[in-house]
Amino acid sequence: MLETKNLTKIYKPKKGVPVKAIDGVSLKFPDKGMIFLLGKSGSGKSTLLNLLGGLDKYDDGEIIIKGVSSKSFSQKHFDSYRNTYLGFIFQEYNILEEFTVGANIALALELQNKKATDEAINDILKEVDLEGYGSRKPNELSGGQKQRVAIARALVKNPKIIMADEPTGALDSNTGKQVFDTLKKLSKSKLVIVVSHDRDFASKYADRIIELADGKVLSDTSLCEESYEANDAVGIEFEGNTARIPEGYHLTEEDRIAINEYIDKLKNGLNLDITAKKSGEIKFVPTKQEDIKSEDNSPFKLIKSKLSLKNAFKIGGSGLKYKKFRLVMTVILSCVAFILFGLSDTFGAYNHINTATNSIYDSKINYVSLEKSVKRGEGIDTYWSSNNNKITAKEVENLKKETGIDLAGVWMPLSEDLSFGQQVDDKVQLTEGEFEIYKKSFSGVVEMDENTLSKMGYKLTAGRLPMGDKNEIAISKFISETFVKAGYWDLKTYDKKTGKNVFEKINSCADMVGKKISLMGKEYTVTGIVDTFLDMERYEPLTKTLEENDSADSLINFVLYSEFTYETDRNYTGMLMVGKGGIDSLISKQIKGAPTSNVYVSVFAGERYLSPMVVTKLSNVSAKDIKWIGGAKTQLNDNEIIVSADMLYEYISYEYDEKGEHQIVDTKTLSETKYNMEIFGDEHIEKSDIRVVGYIENSVEDTKVNGLAIMSDKIYDGVFKVYEGEYIGVIGAMPTERQDIKNLVTYCYNEDSDVKYQFQNPVSYELDSIDEMLEMLTKVFLYIGLGFAIFASVMLANFIATSISHKKQEIGILRAIGSRSNDVFRIFFAESFIIAMINFVISAIGVFIATTIINSALRAEVGILITILNFSVRQVALLLVVSIAVAFIASFLPVKKIASKRPIDAIRNR
Ligand code: ADP
Ligand code: MG
Repeated sequence: MLETKNLTKIYKPKKGVPVKAIDGVSLKFPDKGMIFLLGKSGSGKSTLLNLLGGLDKYDDGEIIIKGVSSKSFSQKHFDSYRNTYLGFIFQEYNILEEFTVGANIALALELQNKKATDEAINDILKEVDLEGYGSRKPNELSGGQKQRVAIARALVKNPKIIMADEPTGALDSNTGKQVFDTLKKLSKSKLVIVVSHDRDFASKYADRIIELADGKVLSDTSLCEESYEANDAVGIEFEGNTARIPEGYHLTEEDRIAINEYIDKLKNGLNLDITAKKSGEIKFVPTKQEDIKSEDNSPFKLIKSKLSLKNAFKIGGSGLKYKKFRLVMTVILSCVAFILFGLSDTFGAYNHINTATNSIYDSKINYVSLEKSVKRGEGIDTYWSSNNNKITAKEVENLKKETGIDLAGVWMPLSEDLSFGQQVDDKVQLTEGEFEIYKKSFSGVVEMDENTLSKMGYKLTAGRLPMGDKNEIAISKFISETFVKAGYWDLKTYDKKTGKNVFEKINSCADMVGKKISLMGKEYTVTGIVDTFLDMERYEPLTKTLEENDSADSLINFVLYSEFTYETDRNYTGMLMVGKGGIDSLISKQIKGAPTSNVYVSVFAGERYLSPMVVTKLSNVSAKDIKWIGGAKTQLNDNEIIVSADMLYEYISYEYDEKGEHQIVDTKTLSETKYNMEIFGDEHIEKSDIRVVGYIENSVEDTKVNGLAIMSDKIYDGVFKVYEGEYIGVIGAMPTERQDIKNLVTYCYNEDSDVKYQFQNPVSYELDSIDEMLEMLTKVFLYIGLGFAIFASVMLANFIATSISHKKQEIGILRAIGSRSNDVFRIFFAESFIIAMINFVISAIGVFIATTIINSALRAEVGILITILNFSVRQVALLLVVSIAVAFIASFLPVKKIASKRPIDAIRNR
């Protein structure tokens, strides 16, 4: 079964001389029987046993197991060899303290990939007289009981060999006897090798006694069974310095050689002791190793151990309770680092689309207001211009289709004048603060109907909705507040005595129903008041004077005011509401043209400046409106323009005709003045010798506009036509689902084509203005995050690495009962995995909470509408991956180290 040939082990301590602990030992062990290794302390007994069990490495010679030489064995093979064939019992029991008795025993079985049934464990406990102790913890047991648990653990695998190193060393002689009785019983069917220094026990229990001295076999004797009855002397018996020769025995030639050999091994002399024959006495005679034959013909096959994950976690997890403080500190510190890492990432993962989406969602922006932006310029000079790009009716239809949102056009007359400031008392101070809160003009014209009311969540608080085919309007409750504050003048009522305007007091918003507001040269009747639920409480700080606010507030107010401006300019709140078809009817009455807000136009002659506000071409104007100077034309040359009369009054004398229209008297001067014209648009046009060839009346009809210039088709089509169009923007209801918002945001921020539609709300305003800064900061934060991640990883890795020292012995024990370094890795990984998971969960929750708190604090305290930190699956995944990776690496390295250790060193905690 087991055989050593010339086995040698030399300890080479770092300091001091090498020790030959085992010196050329050749031994053959039978399949069964109880074999004692005797000898003085330091004689090499333990070393030999450890070598036999593969717990330690030999330096020379070989160990042959079932006919297979272990010369080519690696540590792994020895682990499996122990797992398959060996049960090891130590003096210090070496049972795992955190496992119950049953679990300790079950573990050994599980390492053999066998299922440990309660029944099997109970049976084995019965065998070592510990029935019913399965659920006890080792610390509730006496030494002898513990040792019997160790025996049970060795037995449960039903090993072919049991090795025990001074199993009774820590026990009193009575319990020691019980242990030896058990082992003796087992030796009937197994090979039991026991290290002991107790000669009495040895002679009582041994089938064979091998005595060591200085690493050599001093004597090797076996029990002579015949000696019980035979009176014949059997031979010499060696023991220490004594050779006992039975009475009447005559030395043979072999005996003489044996004595000489024995003498050679001794340092001191040899005593000869002739003992009297006693019948029935146990006799030991020199072992005849050549007679030892193995009858076990089962093939040599090793079972690889496999520690179940459950047990790996149990052992790994148990390690944590020994260093609670350290664990808590580590978890706290690494969680802080991980949270900062995650937070940096929520910031570092800044992405325009997500941030815009979350910000719109979190800010509860309920309207979509879009403005057209067009890519202009060439090459690197490309820029997006959003100045007064008009949106055509066709584009609105297209937008509706692409966004899936019911959008309506916002119209603005070419004059861009929807002011009603004349009809309120400008002597009334509307707010105390520096900010202009109350509006005195509309920011556009929109159609309002029941459907729009309900989709925007608005409410008609007074009157009814306007009809599109009549000159009727609805105004928001907010607009009507201006009248409530500053009164209402109908443009007609004067105080007869003083000639001053008489302002009517408006007590409530509803009082505005029925009042007339003059716009675009016409009077419109207010039929209804729409409550758009503008949150005036939020904007209250804006109404205060600066003295009441400190300087921090003034920044906050600045941000707040820009938000307010978007709310009241770009949302329904600030708009003039007309009925269905109302905008179409307004459009049909107005001439086509382009405002000069995009393209600066200057027409001048010396000090005389004509500043056109709107530009058009001749074919857009009805010919009957034009008063020609020097004959009617059907086509204008590039140096000919027609202007609206309002631009001329300052320079040219005029009188009124019978219709009340202007008649320019001095047409001679008009026709003879040579103007210069400059146009600054995408291209710069400069022309001299420009003549005014006609003028157009503009004072009464709403179809005509002030500051109109009519140019040649060539100039108009080349420069201004692109600014033609019906609407200044579109408006609709913001989707309520985050994903729908995201789709819309994605669409609106797409810059692939030359046209995009930009959000007009405080969120995108704030976001766009700090976008570049954010993008730069995110890079910084990614590095900061990386720093924290590394710090956290090092913390965690360090903790795991230092926990090895606490675990070393247990690992040695596990190795001794047959687990491989693979299992050891599982244990460490289990331990670090537990920490990593605690860490991960706390950090993930921490990041989420911190993100929420920081975001809402920024929102509430600073008034920023941007959701700066965007918590997403990304951070969770990142934290998880980093945690597990750290756990893996941090447990892999120490395991590599510990796996290279001899099991015996691990057990002895060296
Ligand atoms: P025993 O078990 O018979 O008391 P050991 O096998 O433990 O003896 O030791 C045999 C010899 O080897 C002793 O001289 C001991 O000092 C030495 N020895 C044992 N282990 C080591 C070791 N790890 N390093 C150096 N010397 C050792
Ligand atoms: Mg020893």
